[in-house]
Amino acid sequence: DSRLKRIASSIRVIPDFPKPEGVMFQDITTLLLDPQAFKDTIDLFVERYKGKGITVVAGIEARGFIFGPPIALAIGAKFVPMRKPKKLPGEVISEEYSLEYGTDKIEIHVDAVQPGDRALVIDDLVATGGTLSAAIRLLERVGAEVVESACVIELPELKEVRLGYRSEDVQSLVLV
Ligand code: 5GP
Repeated sequence: DSRLKRIASSIRVIPDFPKPEGVMFQDITTLLLDPQAFKDTIDLFVERYKGKGITVVAGIEARGFIFGPPIALAIGAKFVPMRKPKKLPGEVISEEYSLEYGTDKIEIHVDAVQPGDRALVIDDLVATGGTLSAAIRLLERVGAEVVESACVIELPELKEVRLGYRSEDVQSLVLV
């Protein structure tokens, strides 16, 4: 697909960000500067998920908030932000996950997702899969069925998310 080539080449790589430890940061803000690449990204996801009975697109803070809403609108699903702790004003449910050093949490409003909802989880990039795994566990705890999780970029160290009791594939457009 020629669209995938355009998307891949629109992503800028910034070495040593956010820490000078040889990290090659994949910067999707340059993808957003190319309206065709941005549209192609959304279209590819919409082509995959339209008509699959998805009722909720859950976007992970912060860059899942960029890609999630246009997908949700195009497939006729609600959009739910999955946020860092203490950002959501209503009653929340949260899920902890491990980082290289320490732990972090993501939260959703308890009344945003109902049992029977069919969810798609969206983020910009999957590395270890820790963030996506926590997102899936959280959605399952409130009774949603997670149909798939999808990212724009996948780092080579990972092909699946590990939920503790099972593993699941991540759908991604660009492998770096
Ligand atoms: P994981 O939990 O899979 O190890 O890390 C994925 C999370 O870290 C995602 O929320 C993603 O936004 C962020 N992340 C880690 N490395 C990068 C990177 O190189 N570029 C971008 N855009 N996000 C990254």
